[in-house]
Amino acid sequence: MKKIIFATHNQGKLKEMKSILKGLPVEVLSATEAGIIEEIEETGTTCQENSLIKSRYVAKKTGEWAIADDTGLCIDALGGKPGVYSARWTDGAPHADFTLEKMKGIENRNSYFLSIASLVKPNGEEHVFEGKINGTITTEKRGVDRPKLPYDLIFQPEGYNETFAEMSDDQKNSLSHRGKAFQQMRQFIEAELKLLTAKN
Ligand code: IMP
Repeated sequence: MKKIIFATHNQGKLKEMKSILKGLPVEVLSATEAGIIEEIEETGTTCQENSLIKSRYVAKKTGEWAIADDTGLCIDALGGKPGVYSARWTDGAPHADFTLEKMKGIENRNSYFLSIASLVKPNGEEHVFEGKINGTITTEKRGVDRPKLPYDLIFQPEGYNETFAEMSDDQKNSLSHRGKAFQQMRQFIEAELKLLTAKN
C-alpha cells in the first residue's frame, strides 16, 4: 500500500477525497493522522499557490507523497470574489449567510467553484490538477450542511435543480470541482503505481 498524506484538517474534504480514491492500493492519511497538527498558513494569492504550499509542506515534513486541494467560490457580480479568500472573507460570520447577504438584491447570480488539487513527492516532483463547475448562488440556504463545506447550501450547479447540499455525496463527487480535480489525480496515481510495480 502506498501511503499518501492529504494536507488538510477539513473532515469534509477528506471524506470526499477518500471516496474518490476508493479502490486504489493507497492508504490515505489526513495531516492530523500523519502528526501534523499545525495549520499551514495559506499565504498565496491563487488557489494553485495555496494548494502547492500545503502539499509541499507536508511532503517535506513527512517524506511521503502529499496531496492538497485549494478551492475558491468565484461570483461574477462580486468581480470574482471571494475566490482564493473563500475561507476568510466573512470575518467570522457563517459563510453561507454572509454570502447571501452580500448577494441581496443582485440579479446576476452566476458563479463557479474552482478546485486545484496538487500532488508533491518528497523528491520535489509536482503535479497539478484543476476542476471547475459553473452554477448559481441561490436566494436561500437549501439542503443538509456538510461539515466544513458551507457553500454547498447555496450553490446550485448548472443543469440541476438541487444545491450541492441537496445531493448525495456520490452525486456531488461525480460532478463537483473537487471531484473533477481528484478524478484526474486518481488516474495519475493509478498510472504512477503501475510504473512503480513494473519497476520492482
Ligand atoms: P479551502 O480550499 O479550504 O481554502 O476552502 C475555501 C473555503 O471554501 C472554505 O471555507 C471551505 O470550507 C469552502 N469550501 C471548499 N470546498 C467546498 C465545497 O465543495 N463546498 C462548499 N464549500 C467549500
